[in-house]
Amino acid sequence: MAAIDGLPPLRDVICNHGLVAKKKLGQNFLLDLNLTAKIARQAGDLSGCDVLEIGPGPGGLTRGLLAEGARRVLAIEKDPRFLPALEEISAAYPDRLQVINGDALEVDILSHLTPPIRVVANLPYNVGTELLVRWLTPKHWPPFWESLTLMFQKEVAERIVAKPQSEHYGRLALLVQWRCEAKIVLHLPPEAFIPAPKVHSAVVHLTRLAEPRYPADGAVLAQITAMAFNQRRKMLRSSLKRIGPDIEEKLMAAGIAPTARAEEISLESFCTLVREVTSGLTKKGQT
Ligand code: SAM
Repeated sequence: MAAIDGLPPLRDVICNHGLVAKKKLGQNFLLDLNLTAKIARQAGDLSGCDVLEIGPGPGGLTRGLLAEGARRVLAIEKDPRFLPALEEISAAYPDRLQVINGDALEVDILSHLTPPIRVVANLPYNVGTELLVRWLTPKHWPPFWESLTLMFQKEVAERIVAKPQSEHYGRLALLVQWRCEAKIVLHLPPEAFIPAPKVHSAVVHLTRLAEPRYPADGAVLAQITAMAFNQRRKMLRSSLKRIGPDIEEKLMAAGIAPTARAEEISLESFCTLVREVTSGLTKKGQT
């Protein structure tokens, strides 16, 4: 394995610090530094950027990000056992790595970062989707980040990039694709990790759009897609009937057959439906 820095191989780091993986914290480590540098490169040119990394663990991806030239890395790690190993990396890259011991769902990260900001992480599976949804639903758009380069279980990655009429198409695809470009950039087999998980993994790269792809109220879009996909086998006139007694008219005005099912409907059509529904609400509010 070619060294990407002067630090010891990750196997030695794990052994020297006695770092046994804890399943409940989603700990599956990448030990091949060429692979972690390759993942870092999927995030684009990092030289002028602060990078937020969630869950650095023994620091394989952290070292990849620093070797690939990230201006600064802010790494949030819940498990304090990794702090000594991460301190060694910090010492090798003076002033470029800040580690916070805490829960990524609770730490106020923004006060520690300077734009432009990219997020790159091999996410713990237990909080991965929750973090992604938070990053996609800030109070104001554009969000604090320019891009997200994230490792997920392959099935979650497929849900993120899914298109209509496919098995994985649903709320997550619509939420992501409404305001981002999303693509799968790498596939990884279980053997890439120690310990090997049961499932394959994939890295997804999301780039934020300046504006949503189609105009729509985000809260109503989330509500309608939740109703539609919670009963994905039902016809929309039935799954969306709680929207109001005139839902069939709204669907037809949006160019959607009331007998269609959620998985057949494009993002553009869902946004048109949202505008039909919200314009009805505005008119009612005016009378
Ligand atoms: N980045 C390392 C790598 O690629 O080898 C480790 C990735 S491992 C899949 C996930 C990491 O996230 C673990 O180090 C785990 O301790 C950490 N973690 C789990 N839950 C966390 C949370 N809520 N906040 C911050 N880190 C967390």
